[in-house]
Amino acid sequence: MSESREKEVVAAVHPQLFIGGHWRDAEGGRTFAVEDPSTGRTLVEVADASVADGKAALDAAVAAQADWAATPPRDRGEILRKAFEIITERADELALLMTLEMGKPIKEAKAEIAYGSEFFRWFSEEAVRIAGRYSVAPNGATRLLTLKQPVGPCLMITPWNFPLAMGTRKIGPAIAAGCTMVVKPAALTPLSMLRLGDILTEAGLPEGVLNIVTTRSTGEVMEPLIRDPRLRKLTFTGSTEVGRTLVEQSAEGLLRVSMELGGNAPFLVFEDADIDKAVDGAMLAKMRNIGEACTAANRFIVHESVAEEFGSKLTEKMQALAVGRGTEDGIDVGPLVEAKQRDKVAELVDDAVGKGATVLTGGSAPEGEGYYYTPTVLSDVPLGARLAKEEIFGPVAPIFTFTEEADALRMANDTEFGLVAYAFTSDFSRAVRVYEGLETGMVGLNQGIVSNPAAPFGGVKASGFGREGGAEGIEEYLETKYVGIAL
Ligand code: NAP
Repeated sequence: MSESREKEVVAAVHPQLFIGGHWRDAEGGRTFAVEDPSTGRTLVEVADASVADGKAALDAAVAAQADWAATPPRDRGEILRKAFEIITERADELALLMTLEMGKPIKEAKAEIAYGSEFFRWFSEEAVRIAGRYSVAPNGATRLLTLKQPVGPCLMITPWNFPLAMGTRKIGPAIAAGCTMVVKPAALTPLSMLRLGDILTEAGLPEGVLNIVTTRSTGEVMEPLIRDPRLRKLTFTGSTEVGRTLVEQSAEGLLRVSMELGGNAPFLVFEDADIDKAVDGAMLAKMRNIGEACTAANRFIVHESVAEEFGSKLTEKMQALAVGRGTEDGIDVGPLVEAKQRDKVAELVDDAVGKGATVLTGGSAPEGEGYYYTPTVLSDVPLGARLAKEEIFGPVAPIFTFTEEADALRMANDTEFGLVAYAFTSDFSRAVRVYEGLETGMVGLNQGIVSNPAAPFGGVKASGFGREGGAEGIEEYLETKYVGIAL
């Protein structure tokens, strides 16, 4: 990719706040730098919102709420559909922008753009299917009417690992339901979201429905909004640690809350599994997004009789991956998002090795600029290793072994998290026992990917609550009202 094309794509972004349909600077003209993780160099300076800027964004969302709720569902759906089409047309430009700010290879960025835009198409279709019920009270004396109404102004806080899709998963159903919103993208990767602000405007979204606030004073700017009585919903995707704090803050306003938090996905391989398929699934579950996904397989729990074969086939595939700047052709693995992330991955690997794990491949960070980490497979990992409990968020596959099915399930569930699990087996009865026994919101059965806009995405336990996508996704943005009708 030429340097001039990269500059052009970054220059197309408004590096400002998007409030009430207008782009404007932050109070006092404050800005912060957004870096390219493959070089550590600044791509652009973006507006650094103050508390007053945050409040102005909520003011705009509140002002737009009544008219937006009254806008016909078909019109709301058509805006989403149009935005889906624009994103699809501009996939190349958007993918390059995403790769520059986040580091993932272009092909992964394109996959995210296809995935992320599908939430707009899906919810454009859901907008016109919001319905209630009518029934006769059991004693026959009255009639019971239930209707669905938009929750009201929402605050959406998103992480850096999927700079577009984690936003569209929230924005899509909110637009469909008739809610207005303030979106705060991650400070590391705000550019894709800012670009989306332009696209939704072009698609016809009225002023004030979507407001975007970028800031480095995140907690300080977000807390007053969460505590503002005009806000009705908080939806957050990010770490469990921050999620817990936000749930506490949201208690004051008794907000509707959705929390998409961290994961520690087990990937079970039984002795009757098709090992080649399991290895293909493992590559997807582990290496999608350079391992920087909440759904990333964190613990490979493999039957002892097939662990060696699984380990050596996985090692061969991991060694074949090309590591480099995401903008280059043929790259499979880009840099991690920042030095801190790379250092944490290295620390977890060193800890496992120190406790007795064997390095089958990788196990170190290459020299030079950028926050790269070599794709790594570890075998004979002891259960006491930190990465058995902590989210790795990098290209590292630790293999644990088991003997009995019950032990595999116990190991899989032995975590505070419960987002997703994967299981590979060709025995149908075992598959049912296993997917019923897994304490997670989602299960990939004989497949290494679960994300699908038509399915309800979300977790249990410390992975949070609420669902995004599917028929369930829009319910998060709707209130149920009941009207008792006397005859
Ligand atoms: P993070 O540190 O929790 O940050 C997520 C977002 O929260 C960012 O926008 C961040 O802003 C903001 N934030 C941080 N502190 C805050 C505070 N005190 N008040 C309000 N907002 C605050 O998480 P991350 O490192 O960006 O993302 C990785 C995590 O997200 C992983 O744990 C991953 O599993 C999880 N995740 C979950 C899902 C899911 O659907 N379950 C999907 C993707 C990722 P700044 O950028 O300004 O810090």
